[in-house]
Amino acid sequence: GVPEPVRSALLEGASWWNQAFEAAGYRNAFRVEMLPADADPMDVRYNLIQWVHRSTRGWSYGGSVIDPRTGEIIKGKVTLGSLRVRQDFLIAQGLLAAYENGDNPDPRLMEMALARLRQLSAHEVGHTLGLAHNFTASVDNRASVMDYPHPYITLNDDGSLDFSKAYDTGIGEWDKRTILYGYQDFPEGTDEKAALTAILEENMKMGLHYLSDQDARPQSSAHPLAHLWDNGSWPTDELKRLMEVRNTALKNFGLDNIPNGTPLAELERVLVPLYLAHRYQVEAVAKVIGGVNYTYTVKGFETRAGDQWKVRPVSDEKQAEALQALLSTLDTRYLELPENIRELIPPQPIGYRRDRETFKGNTGLVFDPMAGAESAAATTIALLLNPERLTRLVQQKAAEPDRLVSPQYVIEMLLTRAFFNHRETPWQAEMANKIEKLAVRQLIALAADKNADQQVAAIALLQLDDLDKQLDLELANEKDFSRKAHLTWLKNEIRLFRQNPKEYQLPPAPQMPDGSPIGCGEG
Ligand SMILES: [Zn+2]
Repeated sequence: GVPEPVRSALLEGASWWNQAFEAAGYRNAFRVEMLPADADPMDVRYNLIQWVHRSTRGWSYGGSVIDPRTGEIIKGKVTLGSLRVRQDFLIAQGLLAAYENGDNPDPRLMEMALARLRQLSAHEVGHTLGLAHNFTASVDNRASVMDYPHPYITLNDDGSLDFSKAYDTGIGEWDKRTILYGYQDFPEGTDEKAALTAILEENMKMGLHYLSDQDARPQSSAHPLAHLWDNGSWPTDELKRLMEVRNTALKNFGLDNIPNGTPLAELERVLVPLYLAHRYQVEAVAKVIGGVNYTYTVKGFETRAGDQWKVRPVSDEKQAEALQALLSTLDTRYLELPENIRELIPPQPIGYRRDRETFKGNTGLVFDPMAGAESAAATTIALLLNPERLTRLVQQKAAEPDRLVSPQYVIEMLLTRAFFNHRETPWQAEMANKIEKLAVRQLIALAADKNADQQVAAIALLQLDDLDKQLDLELANEKDFSRKAHLTWLKNEIRLFRQNPKEYQLPPAPQMPDGSPIGCGEG
């Protein structure tokens, strides 16, 4: 069975669905109870939530046994991995210096992890009820448990963090609508088709959006509102807000984030989700650039939705703003790990080792304090220079020549951010060099990409040639040995690529540690 306090959290979260059935007019139709001791979990008469142990943290699943003749769901079965709570706990641990008082942690730590589990329980049960993900729900004020929730932490006026709204509670507005649509028994004589269409129309009037996995998961996704693990009503605003929350939590980060008796090296594991707290919001903001508004509207319904259904690019202004916000995550002052944290993390002690939850560094057994910056910057740059995103920009610019944001503009702004980064200290200068290398590498990759739209590759190639000339100018005057070595390396990479594009091998881009649960499935 499931141990407490996890058991109560799962029971409570799953029970939220009763709110949706009640809203559809069914009293007490949906109940969650403990499985009778003598019941067989394989018995098709029992729906089941199962808590299992696995070797790594993994996705959770909500599946159903379905009658293939009618589509009727006969049995719902949810499988939750016990290490799931560990990941939620780690996220909370990074944000909260919970061990100030030694062994008695701040209760908010456990509360946040359990609040996440209630959400997870409701989410997986939602799948067993036949519901798909709605990755636009967070934009509509957390309208569904079928989104992937990111903790929503706010800053108090005194600079402390407020965890009270970390995760939503109760069933969402969208969830009530899907149950109403999917489960309602209409009175005899009702024109069912018309009644169902009326529900959809009402959804639209309520301002609810719906887009699912295919719209939100790919790197090249285009809809500005469909994202995993995001918050807020507009991605750019939320990124700016989240960056401040992260900076604050990072300032407070230290020994009090782990309990007494924990090896100091384990601080790195707690640091990872905090340091990379902006990673999913960055993905969301990237979708604004080259972004396109669209819906799942069908013929016969389109005019009821005003002209929302028309496929239209995100405004130039919003795209330019999103680009600046993304580039601010490449600022060395933002990416720099404070010196006090660098001093805290020793190599792993005997019996411990680095793994997929720690940064992938270049310093051997010693913690690499620049590895996090490198992997975060590489991810942002890859999203910016995504060939499909840039191809959409070519076309958006062709349709509206007055647009500022174009592939040329994106690349120029990226190179400007990289080459004019903050270098107030030698440490920052070293980091800035790394970010330049990443930007140039990705630009070469784009120019070399045979699958990319040829005009996009052509623009990258021309920018690379221009950059090569500027590097000559800078090198001629450069006195600093380290900077000179760096610029020579950049020139050499461009030369190697130009001489023999087919043979040219890009150095591998640094990867971020796993964030989402590990595994090939999607839950
Ligand atoms: Zn799911």
